[in-house]
Amino acid sequence: MTDQVLVINCGSSSLKFAVLDGTENPPILEGIADRLGSEHSSITFKHNGTKQEQRLYDNDHRAAVAAIKKWINEHPEADISLAGVGHRVVHGGETFSQSVTINDEVLKGIEDCSVFAPLHNPAHVKGIKETQALFGDLPQVAVFDTAFHQTLSADQYLYPIPMRLYREHHFRKYGFHGTSYRYISQKLSELDPAYGAENALIAHLGNGASVCATCNGQSVDTSMGITPLEGLMMGTRSGSLDPSLLSFIADAEGITMEDALNVLNKESGLKGISEISNDCRTLETAQAQGDDRAQLALDMFSSRAAKHLASVSTNLSSLEHLVFTGGIGENSPLIREAICQRLQTLGIKIDRNTNQTAPRGEISCISLADAPVKVWIIPTNEELLIAQDTLHLINQDTATTHSA
Ligand code: ADP
Repeated sequence: MTDQVLVINCGSSSLKFAVLDGTENPPILEGIADRLGSEHSSITFKHNGTKQEQRLYDNDHRAAVAAIKKWINEHPEADISLAGVGHRVVHGGETFSQSVTINDEVLKGIEDCSVFAPLHNPAHVKGIKETQALFGDLPQVAVFDTAFHQTLSADQYLYPIPMRLYREHHFRKYGFHGTSYRYISQKLSELDPAYGAENALIAHLGNGASVCATCNGQSVDTSMGITPLEGLMMGTRSGSLDPSLLSFIADAEGITMEDALNVLNKESGLKGISEISNDCRTLETAQAQGDDRAQLALDMFSSRAAKHLASVSTNLSSLEHLVFTGGIGENSPLIREAICQRLQTLGIKIDRNTNQTAPRGEISCISLADAPVKVWIIPTNEELLIAQDTLHLINQDTATTHSA
């Protein structure tokens, strides 16, 4: 049987995709359909070192999935033979604590979770339905960003608000980036077989950023909440702050609560403070040229990341590993050093030179040899984990059918 999987990450106006073979090999095909819903939508295909871009005249999600199918059919030399499709789904609520094969009931469950992810889950449902229509013969699997954190205990996932709100509306911390944390956990257990019995802090620092504490490979605390707004300062998100600010912003600016929330989600963070960019690389360049505001934004980002790492560490009885991942965590020695400097009380000591010279895209250990905590850079690969989960469930379902 083929072990190639089409991995789809469907947003409201974009659809990212990749074909993987379930191993660390680079994707056989990858691309993105962008600006869906606008008259300028297009789709890119990257294969074998070449990149092609096509206009999408029917500019919806169905057109994007149809274009992927057409590309596969028209390029037999790429030798793509799919076993199934894996979908990234942002919110699985309390319904999904692991990846599942999609059926009508699962689709309804994903739709029901839209209340917590109104931009993402409806787009996922759309993407799944279009893929079912066009790749109807293939099994489809949903992999949830929230699932890894379903192991949190009630004292960690509950907000200190009236219990009734949890009972009646499921208002609680869910956490995100779970696919990345699970991938990193797997990698850590390969690097250190004792990890199964050890504790780790993982910092996923990208445009969206969060931290997670793991014990025996399971999530015990994480910084994001009912939505990805809670926790660290991010590219355009404020992260945690006094919730009263929301009504102050709405009153002062004469805007609705929803618009005020938009300010916290889209106009804050690195972008809001620097008034230059949400992009860490751009800010590092500006800072190197003496821009004080870029410096301030980066200092605030590092300080808050360190604070949240220390905060989730209070759920661990010891600390053996700290891992940096995500675009910033993997590529910015400056941010890694600034965070580690603030975490010396946790036993974190890095070798400055090893941190500066760590090769891009590879696993590195940057802690000092005598430090009690190993500090790692581990590139994440969420698409691979989605492909592996998809293959695992297909094989499981096949085995069940044969034994039935
Ligand atoms: P997303 O949350 O969108 O998946 P990524 O994980 O791709 O985000 O991370 C994007 C962030 O990583 C951007 O802020 C970008 O500037 C930062 N980044 C990427 N490469 C570097 C680098 N060499 N130095 C500093 N920051 C970097």
